[in-house]
Amino acid sequence: MGRRRRRQIIRKPKPKIPEFFICPVCGRQGVMVTMDKKKQKAYVKCAYCDLEEEVSIKPRYEPVDAYAKVVDKVSGQ
Ligand SMILES: [Zn+2]
Repeated sequence: MGRRRRRQIIRKPKPKIPEFFICPVCGRQGVMVTMDKKKQKAYVKCAYCDLEEEVSIKPRYEPVDAYAKVVDKVSGQ
């Protein structure tokens, strides 16, 4: 029997958590945090509105910590 078997390649999804947070300005899930650990800065940007903040971070900060800082900053104004 000339039946060909195709090998199935199962792709595992990368265990990367999408780092989109809820924007404190427009309320949409479009906030991306870019961490620059060398400069100890995090850049927080919203894909939907003009939110763009730069915060200083500590070496052990996670993106969520930088995000929390921006939320404080924005809501405190
Ligand atoms: Zn926004």
